[in-house]
Amino acid sequence: MDSMSILPASSGVAAPISPEPSGSSCRQGPILGNVRTGIFGGTFDPIHIAHLHAGETALFQADLDRVLFMPAGDPWQKDDRVLTPAWRRLEMAQLATMGVDGFEVDEREVRRDGPTYTIDTLHSFPDDEDLFVIMGADAASGFRTWHRWEDIVDRSTILVMPRPGTDPRSVGEAVPGALLLDMAPLDVSATAIRKMAGSGEPYRFLVHASVYEYIEANDLYAQTRSGDRVGASYDQEESP
Ligand code: ATP
Repeated sequence: MDSMSILPASSGVAAPISPEPSGSSCRQGPILGNVRTGIFGGTFDPIHIAHLHAGETALFQADLDRVLFMPAGDPWQKDDRVLTPAWRRLEMAQLATMGVDGFEVDEREVRRDGPTYTIDTLHSFPDDEDLFVIMGADAASGFRTWHRWEDIVDRSTILVMPRPGTDPRSVGEAVPGALLLDMAPLDVSATAIRKMAGSGEPYRFLVHASVYEYIEANDLYAQTRSGDRVGASYDQEESP
């Protein structure tokens, strides 16, 4: 079995994970090397604290310049349920990341027609940008079903977040060269949050305060039961 390297725990110094010399705990920007970009794709329906904590952990432990939160337009893995409209998922991502150094929301997957394939996203970046694809252990364990997964591995480094329910050791087999973020597994899922919001159970502190207010103000998951949203699809409800 392939083993997966674990990134060093937070020590105040962002550890280099590629052979290129870092020489400093503080990145100086692209003048001294390639831009290092984390790509964090997801449905983000809604974005929650595990996404945010993992994004910051990746920024720090992999010495990234930025993490792009990239809501998916049409995730082919999740075509069995109706998603909240993309513009609403984008707005929640924007609210949650606003004012956080190194966090950006990227709309390219929402704007692209057709299925969201990570390899197409990677090819939309300049060749001299170092790319890091961030994903949960659950997603990583099914990585070899991803469209052109070998090309994804060639073009990027995969950063894996531990997730309860998936043995991170199984990920080493599925994703060659993956690196495991050193963070506490957080038992939070968007499915559970949608369900809690729909049934009136408390979930306030599982999302950013602004996202909580947004969900409540727009009654976003009012009709949700068992994680399935019975309501407007992306096509039915357009951005104002
Ligand atoms: P859903 O419950 O609707 O399937 P989710 O909570 O898994 O959603 P996504 O937006 O689908 O959230 O996740 C985007 C990425 O974040 C995926 O790679 C997923 O594995 C990862 N992720 C989500 N929640 C966690 C978590 N609690 N711990 C680790 N990784 C997570």
